[in-house]
Amino acid sequence: MEHDITDPLALEIDAIFNLACPASLKSYQLDPIGTTRTCVLGAMNVLDIATRRNCRVFQASTSEVYGDPAQHPQVEGYFGNVNPIGPRACYDEGKRLAETLFFDYHRMRGVDIRVARIFNTYGPRMKTNDGRVVPNFVAQALAEDLLTVYGGGAQTRSFCYVDDLVDCILAMMAAGPEAIGPINLGAPFEMTVLALAEMIQRLTGAGSGIVNIQLPEDDPFQRRPDISRAQAVLGWTPRVEPEEGIMRVINHFSATESARFTKVPA
Ligand code: UDP
Repeated sequence: MEHDITDPLALEIDAIFNLACPASLKSYQLDPIGTTRTCVLGAMNVLDIATRRNCRVFQASTSEVYGDPAQHPQVEGYFGNVNPIGPRACYDEGKRLAETLFFDYHRMRGVDIRVARIFNTYGPRMKTNDGRVVPNFVAQALAEDLLTVYGGGAQTRSFCYVDDLVDCILAMMAAGPEAIGPINLGAPFEMTVLALAEMIQRLTGAGSGIVNIQLPEDDPFQRRPDISRAQAVLGWTPRVEPEEGIMRVINHFSATESARFTKVPA
């Protein structure tokens, strides 16, 4: 059923995965107030259902709770460096407050929670138009357009392939109270945005160049998860290396969107 998570709902269910929220800068900035409502009221509504049903509830939190991190790589004990009034705050602070609600419902009402801090994730079937770096670069390269590198491209991200992430979310939900979290879920494959652009150019054979455009405000300069907790608690290690995962995205985009692209890689 389709339902707005900001409205309360009575459901007879056995488990909840709360993944509701726009997750790209471009999409959550279309409606920042709605984004905060989704994070905060949405968390309260799923937690109220979990309380009534006495069921386990998973919260998709985010590496954005660390903001522009002064500590690298990021461990779960780091409290972060978030600008509370900047353009990213609706998402960052919304997700932080959702974590607060999850832990307060857990402490006060005994709700069985699982909180994951999800780092940059990518894979086939991402939207080509919501501004994330991997689909942007792949779509641009396949169309022989310039790859839009924001700033100088020295900022880093660590990219996790979607199947690895899904395995870990399911493992967390199947595990016992040791997996309450928060647990960083992400791959430690850190690279600069410029290196990612160059890799995608090489893998697609794109002859188009790179254009540097303005870096968005508060864009985190570096990001890499410390995944020791996920490894210790869940025995999880991401398996898909960036080249292999990005190639799957390229193949998927060129198969499904070939009409849009003049050039299809071999
Ligand atoms: N980025 C870029 N070009 C693009 C889209 C994004 O250089 O066309 C950069 C962006 O500034 C950021 C990184 O790539 O430093 C990851 O951006 P994304 O929006 O995918 O994820 P997030 O910033 O939320 O980690």
